[in-house]
Amino acid sequence: MKENTTAVHVGSFPSYEEGGINTPIYASSAHFFPHPSGEVRYPRLMNIPTQSAPAEKIARLENAGAGMVFSSGMAAITTTVLAFVQKGEHCIFQSNIYGGSFEFVTKELPRCGIEASLVGSYATEEFVNKIKQNTRLVYIESPSNPLLRLVDIQEIANECRERGIISIIDNTFATPINQKPLDMGIDMVVHSGTKYLNGHSDIACGAVVSDQEKISRIKKTAYNLGGSLDVFSSFLLDRGLKTLPLRVHKQNENASKIARYLEQADWIEKVYYPGLAGHPDHSLAGKQMKGFGGIVTFDMKGSLPTARKFTQSLNIIKNAISLGGVESTLCFPFETSHVELSKQEREASGIYETTVRVSVGIEDPEDLIEDMENAAGSS
Ligand SMILES: *Cc1c(COP(=O)(O)O)cnc(C)c1O
Repeated sequence: MKENTTAVHVGSFPSYEEGGINTPIYASSAHFFPHPSGEVRYPRLMNIPTQSAPAEKIARLENAGAGMVFSSGMAAITTTVLAFVQKGEHCIFQSNIYGGSFEFVTKELPRCGIEASLVGSYATEEFVNKIKQNTRLVYIESPSNPLLRLVDIQEIANECRERGIISIIDNTFATPINQKPLDMGIDMVVHSGTKYLNGHSDIACGAVVSDQEKISRIKKTAYNLGGSLDVFSSFLLDRGLKTLPLRVHKQNENASKIARYLEQADWIEKVYYPGLAGHPDHSLAGKQMKGFGGIVTFDMKGSLPTARKFTQSLNIIKNAISLGGVESTLCFPFETSHVELSKQEREASGIYETTVRVSVGIEDPEDLIEDMENAAGSS
């Protein structure tokens, strides 16, 4: 089964009793005991069929043996990491990861007696250099936010495999449509399903996929941590996933057009998009990604007031946090994802007050470009 068919059909199931072709919402926290399935059915045990539907879909799209859905991306990430590391063990994390993940690594892991080393670069050697006798896992996020730098997934996976170290990637920005890390040897893939997987900016959810054995292990920890996804959101996630390939292909196409427009626009200082030949990771992107994604970041000429005027003059593109929805949104990383950094730290990581990150939606690209051109003209 190919991707579009998988997205529509896998996991979802008809309600045969009532003859409806969609997955029913089983809104029940109390189930018969013993249950006809032989399982103990309970929402926190993540075994309500409405919850399993999107989990199976995501697993199949990632070419994984099994998957689970959570109440947020952070629930998926924290549960997955905590399922595999013990007190006294060591982990390696890319330092430019999602802010919530970074806070978890730097604030919560030390309290559990788990040591974490941060890697401020994207080079495989820098990760390898940090490996110690007691290193248990390596965690990466590629493409990164907001400058879309890439880590060589295959190299990281190989280095980890050779040493029996677990590898995890946050695949939120790429989605399984653009990047399949398990095929490159990564052990586990985590997602903020709040973004592209659901795709309609209306629920929070998360996911992890891997082989059956690792998912069973994560499930045990998940029962105790309690980050299960409620059935109404599970239903919406399953519905959103049906159009994931369509949406992502359109977003790839739109983002490429916008990046090429911005590259030649006279009000632009610099554009960051892995699909552009000038991006530092362009050739790696060609090697490990099937599409370059829906996020485009750029630096505007001028200063903050110019950039503010620009964002306030837009009609279609909304200034909003989060990303990955059908609608185009944009934000200033200096006041959102990178707000905790000092100006110096921020600028050292390439984020200025005129840096704007756009999450490109599925609208007509001509309208989005015209919206930007008009707004730039009036700023
Ligand atoms: C949003 C995001 C998360 C966190 O997900 P939530 O659903 O907000 O908990 C993790 N990783 C990345 C890359 C994200 O963009």
